[in-house]
Amino acid sequence: MAKVKGDIIIDIEKCKGCELCIEACSQKSLETSRQVNQKGYLYIVKIEDNCTGCTNCALVCPEGAITVYRKTDKSKKQVAKITNITKDTTVTVNE
Ligand code: SF4
Ligand code: SF4
Repeated sequence: MAKVKGDIIIDIEKCKGCELCIEACSQKSLETSRQVNQKGYLYIVKIEDNCTGCTNCALVCPEGAITVYRKTDKSKKQVAKITNITKDTTVTVNE
């Protein structure tokens, strides 16, 4: 069976620097950047390549700024994306 690994993409312009995702990540993969986005918030960056694709960071992010992928040696599949966070919240988790 192919080994599963996670990965995330952070939309830094949506991030408000609340750090909820840092607290939610048991892998300690995330940290606050030393730079600010266009709105003046210190945004989040990935500091370790040890993501398991657990989706916790995306689920706690109030801004819907994180998209999580799970990938194997052969594929990269989106498993969680939260959209329309200020209106009707949509959570999609594919197993
Ligand atoms: S998906 Fe899980 S392991 Fe990966 S960065 Fe988010 S909280 Fe951490
Ligand atoms: S939870 Fe979302 S808004 Fe808060 S710091 Fe993380 S990415 Fe930014």
